[in-house]
Amino acid sequence: MIDPLIREQFPILELKQGKSPLIYLDNAATSQTPRCVLDAISYYYEQQNANIHRGAHYLSRLATEAYEQARERVASFVGADSSREIIFTSGTTASINLVAEVITSRLSPGDEILVTYDAHHSNIVPWQMLCERSGAILRPIPLREDMTLDMEAYCAMLSPKLRMLAFPAISNATGILHPIKEMIASAKSASPDCLCLLDGAQSTGHVELKLADWGCDFYAFSGHKIYSTTGTGVLWGRESLLAELPPWQGGGEMIKEVRFSGTTYNDLPYKYEAGTPDIEGNIVLARAMDFIDTLGIDKIAAHEHALMTQLCAGLESLPGMHLLGDSSQRGSLVSVLVDGVHHYDLGMLLDQMGVAVRTGHHCCQPLMQMLGVTGTTRYSVAAYNTKAEIDAAIAATARALDMLR
Ligand code: PMP
Repeated sequence: MIDPLIREQFPILELKQGKSPLIYLDNAATSQTPRCVLDAISYYYEQQNANIHRGAHYLSRLATEAYEQARERVASFVGADSSREIIFTSGTTASINLVAEVITSRLSPGDEILVTYDAHHSNIVPWQMLCERSGAILRPIPLREDMTLDMEAYCAMLSPKLRMLAFPAISNATGILHPIKEMIASAKSASPDCLCLLDGAQSTGHVELKLADWGCDFYAFSGHKIYSTTGTGVLWGRESLLAELPPWQGGGEMIKEVRFSGTTYNDLPYKYEAGTPDIEGNIVLARAMDFIDTLGIDKIAAHEHALMTQLCAGLESLPGMHLLGDSSQRGSLVSVLVDGVHHYDLGMLLDQMGVAVRTGHHCCQPLMQMLGVTGTTRYSVAAYNTKAEIDAAIAATARALDMLR
């Protein structure tokens, strides 16, 4: 059980929208920030703020130490072998773009990249751009009607030409948790040269991370979806692989020596961190990870699962309501379609009743096109949501649908 008192650590959850308490069910887009992270932000600017790595002075040493300790913390959070495997980025999008850039020279015309149909645009467009650069071909892996992966179709698509398999551990549009280990093992057995990137934007902070067991080569996620701040994120990559790949952006910090006759590049992880990073953001990300680990990922997962079971049962009982995807494979979000009701109208009415959900295509336009819809209404939970909030959200949805029909 998650102690409901953890809500006291989130000042924003006390906000009222008019007379209604604010019920925040848009956590898949951005989660709220606990006091320990807010305090760490103030502490950084009051006690530590300076540029890192190159300064000889006291404050720069303090900031550098806090920054590198944060990297160690992230490494232990994701179960990395070494903090050299942790690249700080501005989020999942930047992490995926980084990988797509640096593997360019490994691809030749006719090579293949596979992504699942439910991939986020940030896990589609960088690969399309890579295909434009390299002549490789991007192919979408179909889903079944219940939004789970069509394993048979997937296995039939595998060939020695495969160079990259990229997919979300949990889809942000359907909530479905994919069979990660099986997918990666099949890709690697069909093509030993295939690299696998897992988009962890919706799995991090919700389920236990098992990067080694899953067998992925890269794992990307964002700070603002795990109780930390916007503009931060991580790319985890296998050290041997990152060491042999070329650098991405050029600039300060990513170099060893710069001469007009040629430049040598820095060691990992600095090779991939050109310029002044979000120093405070990456330091406080470590505090958000402390918050998650103090609650316990197993407890968070069990709590969110109970909330989702309650939410799905309540929504399913409403007339004309269709939940996307098989609920037995569900992460901490659900997308719904309602007969005769536009997703935006439902979202607007819920907002008027103090319930925050997300409407639209969720940056998954190919999936929406496959479903023949322009968007869905998405409810997503976090560790601080309560059973009472879920009851209220279900009741508000029922009222909204009565008004819309
Ligand atoms: N992938 C998934 C599955 C997501 O849910 C999101 C955010 N909605 C992203 C990628 C992009 O994350 P960010 O905007 O933080 O880079």
